[in-house]
Amino acid sequence: MSIIIKTKEEIEIIREGGKHLATVLYKVKEKVAPGISTKDLDLYAEKLIREMRDEPAFLGYRPDGADRPFPATLCVSVNDEVVHGIPKKDRILKAGDIVSIDLGVKHRGLFTDMAMTVPVGKVSKEDLKLMQVTEESLQVGIEAALGGNTVGDVGYAIESYIRSQGKYGIVEVLSGHGVGKKIHEDPYIPNFGKRGKGEKLVPGMIVALEPMINLGTKHVTIDEDGYTIRTADGKRSAHFEHTILITDGEPEILTKI
Ligand code: MG
Repeated sequence: MSIIIKTKEEIEIIREGGKHLATVLYKVKEKVAPGISTKDLDLYAEKLIREMRDEPAFLGYRPDGADRPFPATLCVSVNDEVVHGIPKKDRILKAGDIVSIDLGVKHRGLFTDMAMTVPVGKVSKEDLKLMQVTEESLQVGIEAALGGNTVGDVGYAIESYIRSQGKYGIVEVLSGHGVGKKIHEDPYIPNFGKRGKGEKLVPGMIVALEPMINLGTKHVTIDEDGYTIRTADGKRSAHFEHTILITDGEPEILTKI
């Protein structure tokens, strides 16, 4: 475990990078509509990032254990796909889908990470509630990420909120993480936990919180492409993520415009 505390200069760069990332992701969100392919969203994200003279963080990134690098800029995960969906020309979005868009950006050598789930046209009430509860659980997690609190306090806050909202599956095999010098750093921050347990959050730490919440089981499977994670029961899933700075007061959301 090696937690990196960022310097003032690094924080300034990451703050700037987070603004770029949020700008790009909100523009990609605007493009989400019936008839567009997931590959179109990916190419649009890449174009916007390069126009800002930044680099996509996921393109060519090889996570531990993967046998090939991720082949795209944007992870696009539709309906029962939880995360890490690979964009495809023939994957056309249609009304009633929900689509998670997850993007990492490298700005002046430093990384930020952000995701959101977006409805395509009109979606069911159940799906709207799923997205709302997931986004709110991220907010609750951020509020718990106070300097001096622990990783377990954040997980506990997210988990308790989700449990209070109904019978949802909280994905356990993936978690939030430190970010900055690399796209994934220590500490890992599960979306469940026990109060007071785990690493202490210290001002100057930068972490990405990212609850992944399912309508059914918490269990997931991985496709033969080696990346796409989907729910084991085929029910839908939502994902929201922000990169935040731990301070001695309220945390600061860095992935915002
Ligand atoms: Mg992440």
